[in-house]
Amino acid sequence: MSSLLPVAEALERVLARAAPAPPVLELPLIDALGAVLAEDVLSAVDVPGEDNSAMDGYALRIADAVRPLPVSQRIAAGAVGAPLQAGTCARIFTGAAIPPGADAVVMQENCSLEGELVRVTVVPIPGENIRPRGQDIAANTTVLPRGRVLRPQDMGLLASVGRARVPVYRPLRVAVLSTGDELVEPGAGSLGRGQLYNSNRYTLAGLLRSLGMTFVDAGIVPDDPEATARALASAAAAADCVISSGGVSVGEEDHVKAQVQRLGSLDLWRLAIKPGKPLAFGRIGATPFIGLPGNPSSVFVTFCLVARPFLRKMQGISEPDPPPVQARAAFAVHRPGTRQEYLRVTLVAAEQGLEARRFGNQSSGVLSSVSHSNALAVIPPGTTVAEGDSVQVLLLDLLA
Ligand code: AMP
Ligand code: MG
Repeated sequence: MSSLLPVAEALERVLARAAPAPPVLELPLIDALGAVLAEDVLSAVDVPGEDNSAMDGYALRIADAVRPLPVSQRIAAGAVGAPLQAGTCARIFTGAAIPPGADAVVMQENCSLEGELVRVTVVPIPGENIRPRGQDIAANTTVLPRGRVLRPQDMGLLASVGRARVPVYRPLRVAVLSTGDELVEPGAGSLGRGQLYNSNRYTLAGLLRSLGMTFVDAGIVPDDPEATARALASAAAAADCVISSGGVSVGEEDHVKAQVQRLGSLDLWRLAIKPGKPLAFGRIGATPFIGLPGNPSSVFVTFCLVARPFLRKMQGISEPDPPPVQARAAFAVHRPGTRQEYLRVTLVAAEQGLEARRFGNQSSGVLSSVSHSNALAVIPPGTTVAEGDSVQVLLLDLLA
């Protein structure tokens, strides 16, 4: 287990261990943003429910449009018109049902009024400005599939078929514990020598919440085997998954790995990823466990690349992430690495197309590299990059 696992292989192994989705609960649709559908939602109705007008104008039979037409009725949205009398037109408004017999709507800009009569100046084609029944959604078809993360437009779509409540998976409860004798919680006073503020707790809370999951705070754990074991066990009892930061490397003060092995099992450790080589995955009892590195940039990158896909699968999310994009490297990588590297970059729309600009300090301890970037450029092991080369880029907005 001492060799470094390639990222793709680690991901495959981790995903194979994602437990079944959490229990289902029903939410009012208005509160369902970011929730994950637990069932396919079928529509009981056609949307729109009947042919209706896409314009303010006049509904008519095209064959009648050769002569000025009297207006035989007025149909506003929400009203139901009578069958259209031959040789007449109906004044109609956007969204109003098309009266039986009409085969087009002429928008009012293409008509001129001659006293009481309507003269059509641009003859329509059949069906023009008619939105056919069911053109958006047909009855008895799937509106949205199980596993869909509900976006604002999805909430609207579900409302359009009359749903007021939706079955969703209960948000995963993810316990986060931060290891390290040197850590001080922000707000708990000023720093002594050798101390630093616990930033990982906040990064991880944000990452989890932006996934719609529940952050369970397991606090700071000192670098001590017994305290680590106690904290891991109680976190595992309180959550669907436990995530730790730090303490998972090879030093004498790194206790997480050994305690996870004692309380459960370790399935993998150490990835060929940069930043973030020390990463552990296993179980504490039956609860999945992910041990992230301690360095703040490594926490972010390894969470996004390994923990996030795992948690998404555990949450029952079935849709893939949007694909990465290609950008022109505005930097060079002269020395090929042994690990897959995720450079923090800013993607800008330059004249030649998308351009990735590398943040200056890529040290795994420099969290500014993540805050002041909007993407990760993927540099596979064994490759170099010349300025102007095309590189694969993952947008942070899609990850975090
Ligand atoms: P470790 O893997 O525990 O040796 O930690 C690696 C580095 O990350 C050390 O410099 C730690 O001080 C730092 N670190 C660990 N945990 C945190 C944290 N929660 N917030 C900020 N930095 C941390
Ligand atoms: Mg430590």
